[in-house]
Order: sequence, then C-alpha cells, then structure tokens
Amino acid sequence: MKFLTFEYKEKNYYGVKVKREDSAWILPLLFEDFSDVKDYPRTLLEGITEYHTLDFQELVRKLVESAEVSENADQYKAPFDEINILAPVKPPNNTISFGRNFKEHAQELNNEVELYVFTKANSSLVGDEATISSFSDITSELDYEGELGVVIGKSGRNIDRSMAYDYVYGYTIVNDISARDLQKSHKQAFLSKSLATPMGPYIVTKDEIPNAMDAQIVTKVNDEIRQDGSTALMVRKIDDLISELSKYVTLEPGDVIATGTPAGVGAGMDPKGFVKSGDTVRVSIDGIGTLTTHIE
Ligand code: MG
Repeated sequence: MKFLTFEYKEKNYYGVKVKREDSAWILPLLFEDFSDVKDYPRTLLEGITEYHTLDFQELVRKLVESAEVSENADQYKAPFDEINILAPVKPPNNTISFGRNFKEHAQELNNEVELYVFTKANSSLVGDEATISSFSDITSELDYEGELGVVIGKSGRNIDRSMAYDYVYGYTIVNDISARDLQKSHKQAFLSKSLATPMGPYIVTKDEIPNAMDAQIVTKVNDEIRQDGSTALMVRKIDDLISELSKYVTLEPGDVIATGTPAGVGAGMDPKGFVKSGDTVRVSIDGIGTLTTHIE
C-alpha cells in the first residue's frame, strides 16, 4: 500500500493511493461511512501508532473494498491534480539522519566513513512538489541529498539486528537538504540540515519493497542526473542502523531514519553544483516513486 497525507479542498487528510489511478482514497471519510470504529485515527501517524501494523493495513484494505463497490465510489477519492501532498508523517524523534554511510559520498566531501548521526527539525518537513526558499540570505551552498527513508512501525529499544525488520513499517524518500557552509562553520548539523526536509510522496508498506537493500536512488537537478547509486552500497545496512540507534534512543512508530546518500552531491562536483533559485530537484527510488522539490 502507498499511504499519503494531503490537503484537499482546504482540509488535511490522509489516504491510500487508488490502484492504477492518480488519486487517493480519503481514509477518514471511509472510516466515517464504512466502519463502526468511532475513535478512528485522525492522521496517518495515529494509524501507524495505534494499530498493529498488519491490523491497520487489513482494516484499510476492507474499507477500500467497501468503498470500491459503493454507489458513489468517486466521492471518496481525491484526484492528484486537486491535492497538495504533504510530508506523510511528523516523526516523534524528528527525522533521524545518518551521514557518511556511502563510501564514495564520504570521500567526495573528504570525510571519514564513520557513524555520523543528526536530526532534522520537524518544522522543516515539506511534501512532494513543495517550493522551498533558496535561503540565499544565510547560505550560498544549498545542496541536495537523495536518501531512502525507513519508517518505524513499532516502539523498540535495544533491538537485535536479526529482529530489526520487524520494526520497519515501510519506506519513503527524503531529500536531506543541506547548507554546506553552515554545516562546516557550525561544526554540527542540526541547523544546517533543518532549513527544509522534503519527504514523500508516499510511505510504501514494506511488503511492496521486499529488498530495500537493493534499490536505486537517482537524483536529478533539472534534467541532469547527479546521483545514481544503489542502497546496496550502504556501509551500514538498514538492520544495523536500526539496531545501533536503538541502543541510545527508543524508536517510536512513525520515526523516519534517513539512511545516507550516494555520491554525486553538489559539494562534491568540480565546479560545485549547488542548487539555486529556479532549480528543480527530483529524487526517485525504485518502488516508491519520485519526490520533487522546487527552489523558489
Ligand atoms: Mg544525508
């Protein structure tokens, strides 16, 4: 299933993509009309948090089946050309990000391959097709990083590596927008990585991505391919990242872990390829889709 959060007719909803159609089932309306659950989840994060993973998906599957055969099926759908897609969830622990997790990317920025973790503020989250500022008043080195986002499905601490995928709900795309000059001068990454965090368009449930460790990440700036690397090149793999993080923090449902970016960022190019006003960045990952961001 492909879950999404969106604005439609000036209201925020969450939903699930209609198969073979560019539209979304509006799940709160389906709960209202096709279930007797009074206290149904008001957001996608509540759905992921309050229900066991498989129970939520089973519930949604039944709701969609009921809506499909109803007389007014179309009234429960929001066409994509009439919605604004928002970031799918606000992660309880901010967006947790791993840096330097691809050897060639660490090398292009003259960094050692080492455990480097930071978070990106929730207030920076934006969805697919968002227009973000160029932030030219505070940075002259605005950069992109296309990354696979792992969405956590249940709470856990000290998670054994062999059990890590049990804690995965699904996957999304994160563009780890970075201000390189600020990152250097601040000697930490919270502010320089919190200017904007495009995420989405969907959270794709893990059953649809059986091998997340072999997915291609392709980032384009306008029509130029800048990054083209497989998640197979990660130094530390998804199960290792989950296990490592959970030694220090309790992972919560809806947490998103950005797993690092392959080589090809603007700061690694000669001449530098930072993004500027008028540029469009598109990050595509097999099985998830494309996350598009416009620079104002
Ligand atoms: Mg990154």
